[in-house]
Amino acid sequence: MRIAIVNIGSIVTGDLDGPLVAGDTILTAEDRIVAVGTAPARGVEACDVVIDAGGTTAIPGLIDSHVHITFGDYTPRQQTVGFLESYLHGGVTTAISASEVHVPGRPRDTGGVKALAVAAHKCFESYRPGGMRVHAGSVILEPTLSGNDLGEIAKLGVWLAKAGFGAFASAYDYAPLIAAARAHGMVTTVHTGGASIPGSGAITGDHLLALKPHVSFHINGGPTAMPDRDFERVIVEGDMALQVCTAGNLRTALLCAALAERHDAFARLLIATDTPTGSGVMPLGMLYTVAHLASLGGIAPERAIAAATGNNARVYRLDTGVLAPGKAADIALIDAPEGGTQETALAAIRNGDIAAVGAVIAGGEPRFVGRSRNTPATMRTVRVARCSLARDFSGGRH
Ligand SMILES: [Zn+2]
Repeated sequence: MRIAIVNIGSIVTGDLDGPLVAGDTILTAEDRIVAVGTAPARGVEACDVVIDAGGTTAIPGLIDSHVHITFGDYTPRQQTVGFLESYLHGGVTTAISASEVHVPGRPRDTGGVKALAVAAHKCFESYRPGGMRVHAGSVILEPTLSGNDLGEIAKLGVWLAKAGFGAFASAYDYAPLIAAARAHGMVTTVHTGGASIPGSGAITGDHLLALKPHVSFHINGGPTAMPDRDFERVIVEGDMALQVCTAGNLRTALLCAALAERHDAFARLLIATDTPTGSGVMPLGMLYTVAHLASLGGIAPERAIAAATGNNARVYRLDTGVLAPGKAADIALIDAPEGGTQETALAAIRNGDIAAVGAVIAGGEPRFVGRSRNTPATMRTVRVARCSLARDFSGGRH
């Protein structure tokens, strides 16, 4: 499928090095972006679908790097069916598993732990709930696992490893397994802050700096924050990514973002939701945290969006999250919400409003055009101007 998005008001790239780009058009072909900014008229004419953005703002599809998926589009923790499709209606086109810890009766033995990660990874390889890309299969590091075990499942495709839910006496004991996971090419992540699971102790700055993961998961607390004094140390003394989550401590999320800006480390700041959890299912969580950082933290909205897109993509080595030729065709059109005080999506975000989502393209296909079922309506109208395929992109909403 070839798509042209025309009449775009502004383009937010998701790339901190150039967060805004001039132009009004984006072209995609199959699952790739082929042009951003301008395109020749014949390029637009050759498209199967032309979407009139109506002056709204194009951003990369959001990447939620902390989602508690299990199997299928179902969360046992909140007994909710279809939550991932719901997140797509909040502009999220990519979800990254924070480990399949909510699977009822999850195994703790070596064979079971490995099988769970492999099965989750493979179950989402081609299954896209609502069109969303899900990266699943984050192995839960347990004391019974060896480096060879990690090598075995890495060969089967598992590339995510999670420390924090294992039955270790001390969090420092994760260090050899994290190093082994790294050696097998995995992206390693460590729970940060007070325990959300009874029995596991708090993980703070000293632990993070000793364990050296790629990502400090919910550095602002999941949901309970580590001591304030540890944030600056982790930023200055370490090089790990700093993931701030909607379902954490808002004050320390703002503290972390401010410190990241001050120490020229904003490229390491990742926005994620840490849901579904006890905090619930939050389809608009990414948009909330973007608005919180921009309105309360004084972060430029286009930089906050980069933390929710390109920064996540770079740390997790994904070929999405940036609007540029060759990247995955994952795009959202957002706008100021109808009835608000602001004229554009970026002004609304700076004002603390939740941006309205007018269309989502994921994996090179429009998943809905016109109205998200979860956000307010866009101030401007996004519509399918021309479509030569027998398809309906209203997303079931008329
Ligand atoms: Zn979590």
